[in-house]
Amino acid sequence: MLARKPVTTPSAALPFIDLKTQRKRMGAAVDAAILRVLDHGQFILGPEVRALEAELSRFCGAKEVVSCANGTDALGLVLMAREVGPGDAVLCPSFTFAATAEVVVWLGATPVYVDVDPTTFNLDAKSLEQGIATAKQHGLKPVGLIAVDLFGQPADYDTLEPICAAHGLWLLSDAAQSFGASYRGRKVGTIGLATATSFFPSKPLACYGDGGAIFTDDAELAKVLRSLRVHGEGVDKYDNVRIGINGRLDSIQAAVLLEKLKIFPDEIERRDRIVARYNEALADVATVPVVPEGSTSVWAQYTIKVDAEKRDKLVASLKEEGIPTAVYYPKPLHRQTAYKQYPSAGNGLPVSDLVAGQVISLPMHPYLEPDDQDRIVEAVRRNLQS
Ligand SMILES: *Cc1c(COP(=O)(O)O)cnc(C)c1O
Repeated sequence: MLARKPVTTPSAALPFIDLKTQRKRMGAAVDAAILRVLDHGQFILGPEVRALEAELSRFCGAKEVVSCANGTDALGLVLMAREVGPGDAVLCPSFTFAATAEVVVWLGATPVYVDVDPTTFNLDAKSLEQGIATAKQHGLKPVGLIAVDLFGQPADYDTLEPICAAHGLWLLSDAAQSFGASYRGRKVGTIGLATATSFFPSKPLACYGDGGAIFTDDAELAKVLRSLRVHGEGVDKYDNVRIGINGRLDSIQAAVLLEKLKIFPDEIERRDRIVARYNEALADVATVPVVPEGSTSVWAQYTIKVDAEKRDKLVASLKEEGIPTAVYYPKPLHRQTAYKQYPSAGNGLPVSDLVAGQVISLPMHPYLEPDDQDRIVEAVRRNLQS
């Protein structure tokens, strides 16, 4: 008997991330918060910025929170505070967004790429050891590690921290995608020397423009970071005690974030429910994400792995059906024009190369309705089984 081909009625294209529904949910609260800033007129480092830093500290437990202009500056400011410079090597993954390594190059230091685990997409401890040796072979001084919590899931800090300690490396967590998650009972924001996050509109906790923050328990470091974000100011910005940047967060963005923070815990729960549904429906046709026991993810992306030969066709077919997907990241940094000149750990990064061909991220946001999710799942299954 011939199986009947499923009839797909053309339906409207789905959003990859739905900010409109979130905006509707928040009603006039954000509008009112923005209007208050327009009325008081303290647009830069105004009262909302201080209030946000206090709320973020309460949320994640970090003693010090220094908000800043974006997630890239958040990373760069920590490196500036540590006086990273030429001759220094900073270890980081290659399978990440360019900003992770970009800030290292800003300061004249050398990124040394480390491979990732094929299941979590986060740093591989064995490759980190190799990367430290590689840095030394290149005559560089390994000074620090930037660990990325890719797609919202914290890196395996229990394996990374002893290696950093043994080699005298500071640990900076690139939590641009993972703020709100936790690692074996430790909240993101409280791990390592410092944690950097981003509030770019597509991140789990996001503003309506650019924004970022640094978290640390080190009061002395926080003091230097606050100076660096305002041109290296001393007693005021006309007293310059170090070379800094203009890296401040706008009061309007802080006002938006204060409102969004109120619904953030509920949004994280919604993300978890959506992922559980995706995983159940797709586990037999693709490799679905798993979070190790005791940790949580905020699911900045819902990323599955498929056979490399099938990936690009799947992207194209889903697009035709109005289902947007994304490939994070098609080209690891050690393959990028601007970044390939820097050393890789050991004999190369086979896992980064492999997973770059297999990953595909599906629509993921707290307001994905069951009907829309069923449509996505059905399309993915049909395309992978054909
Ligand atoms: C988004 C992102 C950044 C940079 O954040 P911006 O706010 O866009 O500067 C850095 N690292 C990772 C892993 C990111 O996903």
